[in-house]
Amino acid sequence: MRLARRFLSLLFALIVLAGVMAAQAPLSKRVVAYDIDAKYDAKSHTLDGVETLTYHNYTGQPLDTFPFHLYLNAFQRRSTFNEEQRLRAEGFRAGFTNFDEKHTGLDEVKKFEVVSMSDGKHTLTFPQPQDLTSKMHFVRPDDGNTNDTSVFEVQLPQPIPPDGEVTFRIAFHDKFPEVVARTGYKRDFILAGQWFPKVGVWWQGKWNCHQFHQNTEFFADFGVYNVKVTVPENYVFGATGVQVSDQKNGDGTKTMTYHAEDVHDFAWTADPTFKVVDGSYTNSAGLTTKVRILMQPANMKSSAQRYLNITINTLKKFDEWYGPYPYSTLTVVDPPHGGGQAGGMEYPTFITADTTWWMPSGLLEPELVTEHEFGHQYWYGMVATNEFEDAWMDEGINSYVEVKVLDALYSKKKSIADFYGLSAGERGLQRLQYTGVADLDPMTTNGWEYVTSASYGGITYGKTATVLLTLEGIIGEAKMQEAIRTWFQRYKFTHPTEEDFMKTVNEVAGQDLTWYWNQALRGTNILDYEILSAKSINNDWSTDKKTSFKAPKGQTPYLTLVVVHRKGDFVMPVQLEVKFDNGEVVHETWDGKDRWHRFQWEKKAKLVSAEVDYTHQFQLDKDFYNNSYLEEPNPQATRKITNYWLIAVQWYSQMLAWLT
Ligand SMILES: [Zn+2]
Repeated sequence: MRLARRFLSLLFALIVLAGVMAAQAPLSKRVVAYDIDAKYDAKSHTLDGVETLTYHNYTGQPLDTFPFHLYLNAFQRRSTFNEEQRLRAEGFRAGFTNFDEKHTGLDEVKKFEVVSMSDGKHTLTFPQPQDLTSKMHFVRPDDGNTNDTSVFEVQLPQPIPPDGEVTFRIAFHDKFPEVVARTGYKRDFILAGQWFPKVGVWWQGKWNCHQFHQNTEFFADFGVYNVKVTVPENYVFGATGVQVSDQKNGDGTKTMTYHAEDVHDFAWTADPTFKVVDGSYTNSAGLTTKVRILMQPANMKSSAQRYLNITINTLKKFDEWYGPYPYSTLTVVDPPHGGGQAGGMEYPTFITADTTWWMPSGLLEPELVTEHEFGHQYWYGMVATNEFEDAWMDEGINSYVEVKVLDALYSKKKSIADFYGLSAGERGLQRLQYTGVADLDPMTTNGWEYVTSASYGGITYGKTATVLLTLEGIIGEAKMQEAIRTWFQRYKFTHPTEEDFMKTVNEVAGQDLTWYWNQALRGTNILDYEILSAKSINNDWSTDKKTSFKAPKGQTPYLTLVVVHRKGDFVMPVQLEVKFDNGEVVHETWDGKDRWHRFQWEKKAKLVSAEVDYTHQFQLDKDFYNNSYLEEPNPQATRKITNYWLIAVQWYSQMLAWLT
């Protein structure tokens, strides 16, 4: 009996232990572990930190060279970031071009040491840390710009064997710019993004550590972060991960300690005026995510509830469609007025949104930005693609999903605006971004190699969304949703490639879509079908035209001719709908391979209208206006549409300047 009880209690203990272990099982392969202790000086907007980084060598080969990002150094005169702004900033993010002293940033490594190494079994701790500061040197793998100091490299005295690990201790000093490209201060507000030396990613058999470019974002390995940040005591603080402690130091400062697991970056924010709005969402796996919104007091009335609603609704939609959000926290930051460049940004479990105190309820800007940045928790945060090289897989897949979520929440035609009798749907504006730059660069272009910033924006966001919406017409909306769900489930917490995406969609769709990928994704071909001509001609040869005899309607035989023209080089099967004046409707399909195709019918009825892609599947079609022919056009309708588009385009292009 006693034995049985002991056995049972032991069994119970084992079950509990297994449960705890299962709950703590890492979601990702944790390559890095960062412990950072930093002090922020709110007067000078500077920070001094010490970072202890343990890197696990899962590369399968010995490693003796390590590259690191120093992103804040991008904000220096003649850096690659600033040079590219001068050369390429047209339209998209053009606001970043005004370089001056206050927009200068700095990330300086004061001391770089190796404190220990291990071969996976034995730890080798040196009598004294090895100081490698003098071995550090800047590298410029992308453009050779000797003024750029956004990446440095260091060679170790001996390689780290496969499965071994190395621990670095890096003392660094930051100077934050007034907000540029989603990092920096505005008055008392601070958004600290890309603020510590960050190791590159070993990817596809080599180091991937690009310089910081005007258009590019980030790429890093998953791991664990333990971060302490000391800020003035009256500041309200928020960060990636979970708050562990909030300790007053008795000198007017406090130290905030945060812990985050299975993330690949860490950002924080602080502002004495933040108002905190709390909410929560319990997902389908039973995990509750605490939503914490850090509001500017002036925006509380117009936007606090709106932010909270869209955040919860988006969490729910993603849970339902793609899978549950696995983190227990999500922080949404509302940046201050004039700190616009801090708005619309994603970091793990931490996003920044944007609004104004007067935001009209019919303009869904706070909703769009919040949904978009939350979406990045999946496409960037978890499916951690290479944002430098494959921007479309992060911004573009996210933009496509944004259309789907906003359409589902607010309806297709009103998903971004619905006021003063005007309404606008998100898909139309994604398409509009693309049409302006349609053939400039393929989606597969490296982020920094687009001809202009406008092309980068239009292609990576707008074209990708449009390509995926068009794909719905080929494989069906349900299959697309299944494909995106499979993409998330299969590749979360990894660094997948473009090929992985195409392979996943092909597999779920059950068809080889190479013909589509080659044109839409790897190419710059324009998709544009038009009705070249459409007419009905009297086909009664017995009628003597001089007598002007007219047979009654429905008795005269007509020959109806419709020529469909493939104006662009993008080849895709297309469907045609032709309507006749006896009410008859005819549908035809053409493979689109030739340059044009003539359809003809003999009927005792005249043509009323002809339309290619009549089910409106081809979001990629660059010109919708030539898709149809109508016997009696309605000019008034066209004018109304034009006016609406002008307003929408203006607002949308403004917004794109800062959405990332
Ligand atoms: Zn984005």
